Amino acid sequence: MGTAAPSSSSWFERNSQCLRAASTALVLTTVAVLLTFRSLHGVHNAIYLWPATGIQLGILLPVWKSCRMRLRAQIAGAFGVFFGCFLSGLPPWFALSIAFISFADVWLVGTILSVSILGFEDLKKRRNLWRFLVGAQAGPAMGALLSSLPVTYFTHLPLLKSAVSALLADSLGLLVILPAVLFIYTGKYRRISVIAPYIRASAGTFLLYTVVLGYIFWQSSYPLLFAIFPPMVVLLVSMGLEGGVYISAVTAAVGLYATSHGHGPIMLIHAGTTDRFIILQMYLAMVTATALPVGALWDERLRAEIVANEAREVYQTLLSHADDMIILSSLNSEQRYVSPACEKITGWTPEEFLLLDRQSTFHPDDYPLAELVVESIRQGKMHHQFRYRIAHKDGSWRWVEASVTAYLNPSSHEVSGYVGTLRDITEHHRIEQQRDALERDRESLEQLAQTDPLTGLPNRRAFDSTLQLEIFSSAATAPQASLMLIDIDNFKRFNDTYGHQAGDRCLIAVADALRGALGREADFVGRWGGEEFVVLLPGTPLRGAQIVAAELLRAVRDLNIPHEHSHRGCVTVSIGIAPLDDDSRADSRAWLQKADRALYESKRMGKDQVRVNLTMYEGSQDTDAIAS
Ligand code: GH3
Ligand code: MG
Ligand code: MG
Repeated sequence: MGTAAPSSSSWFERNSQCLRAASTALVLTTVAVLLTFRSLHGVHNAIYLWPATGIQLGILLPVWKSCRMRLRAQIAGAFGVFFGCFLSGLPPWFALSIAFISFADVWLVGTILSVSILGFEDLKKRRNLWRFLVGAQAGPAMGALLSSLPVTYFTHLPLLKSAVSALLADSLGLLVILPAVLFIYTGKYRRISVIAPYIRASAGTFLLYTVVLGYIFWQSSYPLLFAIFPPMVVLLVSMGLEGGVYISAVTAAVGLYATSHGHGPIMLIHAGTTDRFIILQMYLAMVTATALPVGALWDERLRAEIVANEAREVYQTLLSHADDMIILSSLNSEQRYVSPACEKITGWTPEEFLLLDRQSTFHPDDYPLAELVVESIRQGKMHHQFRYRIAHKDGSWRWVEASVTAYLNPSSHEVSGYVGTLRDITEHHRIEQQRDALERDRESLEQLAQTDPLTGLPNRRAFDSTLQLEIFSSAATAPQASLMLIDIDNFKRFNDTYGHQAGDRCLIAVADALRGALGREADFVGRWGGEEFVVLLPGTPLRGAQIVAAELLRAVRDLNIPHEHSHRGCVTVSIGIAPLDDDSRADSRAWLQKADRALYESKRMGKDQVRVNLTMYEGSQDTDAIAS
């Protein structure tokens, strides 16, 4: 023996679902067909409601996608039809033809329905319900065509009557039985524990419907068939499609039982039994065709309402927990919505805020900006971000950052309003203001630290950084530059003669004269210390510096401050110039030393003059006097 055969228990396990479906179909169909024919005995010779198709489809549709299972269950169902007919005493050829016709009927309706109906809940969708109503006519129509010949032969009814009767019986069976079986197999509320609260809540409406129905079919004096509709509507509104299934099943059961036992308004019709039953079938079909769609639509509406409520709750939760205040407004501000965060930011509830005059919620200085934003949104700009002050209930103003986005009308695609998100930045703004003030303080302190308090000129510290900057930038572009040291002549004796305060005034006057004589923006003059000044002339070659120095010399002389120990009789200065060279570029102290040496030279040569330190030629210490 090669491979071991799979054990029988595992085969059963693997096929248990399939077996269950097939055996259920076989047993239920056999029983249903047996009961159908049994109920006819002694009453009439025709079938008024054919439940077998509805029962089979109720079992088959949930497993329709699984071909193997569906086919086996369908074959089992056909066998059930055959057995049911055979056990009811029908001849085998008739039982066999009914089984074949039933098989084709189930296949056709199943093919139509299985596209979108695989369970009870699917029936609650509007589109599926139409499919169901159409499918419940198409299959029975084909079945009626095929079965009219054997049925006519067997029942001796006229051909047309037997066809119509078969069509109505099958279609009614589908309409009434299929939803009920689907509900039992797949209904969301099929478990008693789940549906019990609903049934308890609607017990009154169930009872009302059943009592009215019972009365209508118990009495035979009045044509009260229409009286069923008011309690029907009440039950549908409270139970939806589940209520519809109850209505169609109970009405069919009561109507068929009563009429076949000679009770009810149908008995008022003066016609043969078959015609009466055709009228009853039509009535039941109408009741079902009303109850099921209305129930399903009602369920659909309830579902939509639940979805909308859930969505509203989500948005409400989001909005009420957001820190940002959201404003939704049409362009003309006629329709406005304000989110709950309004109270956190402005102190007013959204309702109070909406009652305020819109303009009054803006700080008067900021309102024009807000108007501008709305205007540019109207012009088509989609997004804006700006800050403004919003009014607070306590009379203060709060800074907010507003992010405003335009929204379009979905149909016209034109801007119809805007959504603004306001974030409270009062604290943030306060910190920013403080930081700016500190920055300003720091800048002015720095300014102070770099300024000589007596003359108002930049001091030596300021000069140092300027000098570094100049050397750095001249290294990049290699222009020429000149440095001057200026010293007031015989200032000690000036102090001694005229007093220290006069000395201070003299220093101020000389500083002003130097500053005034320097024409260019980039020229720098600072107080070097004591009665000495420093001048830096960026981009100025020696020749230019000599001209400037001569002017400075003249400017101080022109002050004409009397000085009895000066050969000129007034305050004068001596100036030393050093043009920028490679040594100085490498070391700024060397540049200063050279200027200092030139200054020393001009003092030595008799003061009140300009001297130049020339070291263009290596090792040279030449200085060059400018005629005073
Ligand atoms: P020289 O012509 O060689 O430069 O002689 P000088 O007297 O000008 O030079 P010296 O260095 O001997 O004296 C500088 C004087 O400047 C000494 C000090 O009294 C005076 N001085 C320095 N700073 C100030 C100041 O802020 N105010 C006043 N009034 N005098 C100052
Ligand atoms: Mg000096
Ligand atoms: Mg001096």
